[in-house]
Amino acid sequence: MSKAIVIGAGIAGIASAIRLAIKGYQVDVFEAGPIAGGKLSEINLGEFRFDTGPSLFTMPQYVDELFTLAGKDPGEYFQYEKLETVCNYFYEDGTRISAFADRTKFSEEIAEKTMDSAESVIRFLEKSKDIYEITNSVFLQRSLHKFSSYLNWRTFRSLLRFSEIDAFRSMNKAIEANFKDYKTIRFFNRYATYNGSNPYKAPATLNVIPHFEQHFGAYFPIGGMYAIASSLVKLAIDLGVKFNFNCYVDEIEVKNDKVSGVKVKGMSHPADLVISNMDVWYTYQKLLKGFTIPERIRQQERSSSALIFYWGISRTFPELEMHNIFFTENYREEFKQIWEDKTIYTDPTIYVNISSKNKLDDAPEGSENWFTMINVPSDTGQNWDELIIEARKNIIEKLSRNLGVDVSKLITCEEILDPRGIDSKTFSYQGSLYGSSSNSQFSAFLRHANFSSKIDNLYFVGGSVHPGGGIPLALLSAKIVEGLIK
Ligand code: FAD
Repeated sequence: MSKAIVIGAGIAGIASAIRLAIKGYQVDVFEAGPIAGGKLSEINLGEFRFDTGPSLFTMPQYVDELFTLAGKDPGEYFQYEKLETVCNYFYEDGTRISAFADRTKFSEEIAEKTMDSAESVIRFLEKSKDIYEITNSVFLQRSLHKFSSYLNWRTFRSLLRFSEIDAFRSMNKAIEANFKDYKTIRFFNRYATYNGSNPYKAPATLNVIPHFEQHFGAYFPIGGMYAIASSLVKLAIDLGVKFNFNCYVDEIEVKNDKVSGVKVKGMSHPADLVISNMDVWYTYQKLLKGFTIPERIRQQERSSSALIFYWGISRTFPELEMHNIFFTENYREEFKQIWEDKTIYTDPTIYVNISSKNKLDDAPEGSENWFTMINVPSDTGQNWDELIIEARKNIIEKLSRNLGVDVSKLITCEEILDPRGIDSKTFSYQGSLYGSSSNSQFSAFLRHANFSSKIDNLYFVGGSVHPGGGIPLALLSAKIVEGLIK
């Protein structure tokens, strides 16, 4: 039986292990931390439970696919429910827009609350769908770095329609061309942050993102986001995968330009193939002795990071849903400060996720668990301690102003995660959430391939490599790697 080793039990590492076990490999996963999931993790603070990283779950079919592939009934391991209201958006002038899952209801909501028409929303979402249909088979489902990927009819047909993907103007430019109200423009620009990018720089191709949410829907796993990781770990174990926790891999061993195994705590573990789920930057820097990071990877801008306050809140807010956004008054300035000044804007857009709205036991009765997050630059040595004090004050003031109550008096417990913590907890270079940013039209091509061109049988999965960050794409990276393994 061939032996495979997976470095890291992030979502892509777990998915890779499952796919290889189904293929008949004997699979060992070495995970540096005490539990699986990587960024997709959870903590308990007193009686409150929090998902620590991802909170928005889209494209559940990529999770289900793993159970089905293994011949299991997905529902036996993992269940989720569709959200009827995906997110509530709050503007400082008191306007509140609800992003309903139902397209007609949503477009009518925009027509009622802004100067834009329902038709303009439908037109924009249709364009978003077109971009998805053109890019899906080329950018998401295959390696971009194998000639053979281009030799099929679907890809060829997509390539013929390439001029339609709107790669040569920014997301914001395309959105401004379609809408006139700043509220709608801000609403659609925010999708750039779904992969840690800047809507004023990222190509309009990224206007595909609303299609993922509006067409395929947003979901909440029964048991919370962490159930995605834990149910997949259960499946992997059922398939015979062996997880080794608290086992940091120190080195990928290479003999005659072919991977031969990994070194953990000074001991060699031989393998026929190795899949690294560690951020590709650190894989080169820390694990591949004698190999340097390819120049184009070194030069790529990192995606944004996040500052999160996990707060136990001593009352409930009926006006809030599970996902809530409180917009800045000046979006352009916020992105300038994140991307050019590498700092935190004094009036940041705030995301409040409250899983206890759906999973009641995530907070004691009469309370809520607030995952309060703002986008911040990746860690390039800023004085985070100072920035966090200032940001916390500004966040509390803004939420208090919008909700008409002094939020500071309601916080009963707190934990903070900043870019330094994201880096050190999950080995994500500079604490970036999604590997590299997608701020240029070439970003998709510049991401690292899912295989090594120098070392045979070494593969890369996860948010830092092709096709990109976020749970759905990280899962697709594992699928692409499976396809690459003979
Ligand atoms: P990671 O989660 O990065 O895990 C890598 C694992 O490898 C870690 O467990 C680490 O300990 C382990 N590891 C690394 N090096 C070694 C080594 N040498 N030896 C052993 N183990 C090692 N995505 C969404 O889809 N929706 C969201 O709403 C969303 N929000 C987010 C919010 C936050 C705050 C964060 C941090 C991320 C968010 N994301 C979201 C992004 C999403 O979490 C990631 O893209 C995805 O989880 C990345 O998974 P991954 O497989 O690349 O691995």
